[in-house]
Amino acid sequence: QAIVVAVDGPGGAGKGTLCQLLAAEFGFALLDSGALYRLTALAAQRQGVDFDDEAALAQVAANLDVRFDAGEQGQGVTTWLQGEVVGNELRTEQTGGLASKVAALTPVRDALLQRQRDFAQVPGLVADGRDMGTVVFPEAALKIYLTAGAEERAQRRYLQLRDKGQLSDDELQGEGRNVTLARLLEEINLRDERDSNRAVAPLRPAKDAQIIDSTAMSIEEVKAAVVAFAKE
Ligand code: C5P
Repeated sequence: QAIVVAVDGPGGAGKGTLCQLLAAEFGFALLDSGALYRLTALAAQRQGVDFDDEAALAQVAANLDVRFDAGEQGQGVTTWLQGEVVGNELRTEQTGGLASKVAALTPVRDALLQRQRDFAQVPGLVADGRDMGTVVFPEAALKIYLTAGAEERAQRRYLQLRDKGQLSDDELQGEGRNVTLARLLEEINLRDERDSNRAVAPLRPAKDAQIIDSTAMSIEEVKAAVVAFAKE
């Protein structure tokens, strides 16, 4: 039987990087559940589906043709949607916002539930999301709730965008930098609010989750803390 490590928490807390490190450390498979919501939003947008049409969005989620390829260590995951590689568009805060809209709909979440569970494989799975420990894998062997202050998370998102070359010269310095940081903070707060207040699978720690506040921690320190919990 597969051992599941569930990692939940708000956007920009470092779950993505942490989960990649943990999967490599344990030799486990990886589920980036947020990518499934992001891809549902992107596919719906491409197909011209009305974002108010719940049934149509659920159809898009149910028929999602996706493939993930972990590639060589450290190269990052390649994602395919309907046979085409998805680029930077997947990670933008704009796509995150659309994902959080479709993620608030019960029919969409239901359509993606079994697909997420199918990622579990021997010896184990590291599952990254908002409801991994509460809904998708309630029996997970280890549940982590990773959080960080909103300003720190906005700052991390900014550095991520910078490192991927997604910021203009204007946004890299002076007042443009502050404007972009402020906008990211606003977008992150909005998404957190929507994810925490929705009726279905709201963002919150599972009762049996270990809570880690990573505001003042490096990713290596967070990883070490999780590995220590795993040994308990
Ligand atoms: O983690 P990521 O930023 O990729 O997630 C994008 C959005 O997808 C989140 O803001 C949230 O609304 C939704 N999501 C979710 N449940 C998950 C993973 C992501 O509702 N398990």
